[in-house]
Amino acid sequence: MKKLSFLLISISLILFSCSLQKKSEPEEKKAKNIILLIGDGMGVTQIYAAMSTEERPLAIEKFKHIGFHKTYSASDYITDSGAGGTALATGTKTKNKSIAVDTLGNTLETILEIAEKKQLATGLVATSGITHATPASFIAHEVSRNDYENIARDFLDVDIDIFIGGGKKHFAQRKDSLNLLDSLRARNYVVIDGVENLETNKLSKFAVFTADGHNPKILDGRGDMLPVSTEKAIQVLSKSEKGFFLMVEGSQIDWGGHDNDIDYVITELVDFDKAIAKALEFAEKDGETLVVVTADHETGGLTLTDGDMKTRTIKAEFSTGDHSAVMVPVFAYGPGAEKFMGIYQNTDVFNKMIEAYGF
Ligand code: MG
Ligand code: ZN
Repeated sequence: MKKLSFLLISISLILFSCSLQKKSEPEEKKAKNIILLIGDGMGVTQIYAAMSTEERPLAIEKFKHIGFHKTYSASDYITDSGAGGTALATGTKTKNKSIAVDTLGNTLETILEIAEKKQLATGLVATSGITHATPASFIAHEVSRNDYENIARDFLDVDIDIFIGGGKKHFAQRKDSLNLLDSLRARNYVVIDGVENLETNKLSKFAVFTADGHNPKILDGRGDMLPVSTEKAIQVLSKSEKGFFLMVEGSQIDWGGHDNDIDYVITELVDFDKAIAKALEFAEKDGETLVVVTADHETGGLTLTDGDMKTRTIKAEFSTGDHSAVMVPVFAYGPGAEKFMGIYQNTDVFNKMIEAYGF
């Protein structure tokens, strides 16, 4: 009897240690690259509006790991894109209008800057000026999002590998009469007008300006600037052996919401979805890339009060000309994607990306 119980205890001890080993054994796969796509002002209704009016399924419908984040800022129940972008970029809630500084104005390190420090390649793409609140939150540090010239100046402090967007005037036609395009060239950037002129086989850093101010809307003929920029930025950044961080913004979904213009919202969302498709296409082939799609907040308090799937029509109503307070969705694909399931703070999007990199 004693022998038997000794045997049983030994067996269960062996089994226990095996199960312990198993638990700690499979090393979680890290993300070498992260592509973060932000649809400014993109709530669930904006997405479903486009899903209803488009004949073909959206790329965003492919994601399996989905969550929500809470968008409120340190100062307001309803965030602006400065505090919203800062939360996603730095993992800290701050006051509305702030760009990667805390509530006291202290500089907050951004995920793009952390990636640079770790010798990853980095990039920013936007359909607004590249100096606008969302892209600025990843590279600049200003108490006011409206200090476009200071924000442009901040680009020179970070060794970003490629940025594509509008806002050339904030670099070239400045009150202080500095020519930041020359400063960029002095820092070995190739400065280019128009993403169609970007040759991605060249080994360099690129500053690509697509407009003096903001880019036009899709409805006014912007064309495929965003998906093409996304694809080309990925081509440039994926040459980096250590990996990369890229943020792509569909900036004008928000502006359609502010205008309470559903056609503006949907056309911008469908365009943003094409950029998502480019990111997913790369990630599926690459296998080491985490793609995260989210918003900074919802805009317009959009609701769908009627519709018809046969005729692909909807009846949309807006409840505000500003942002609303609701949670916004997060979609993830690739190594670390399962971390993005659930309901959490906007700041946790940053934390989960850092974790996925293994930093
Ligand atoms: Mg924005
Ligand atoms: Zn807005």
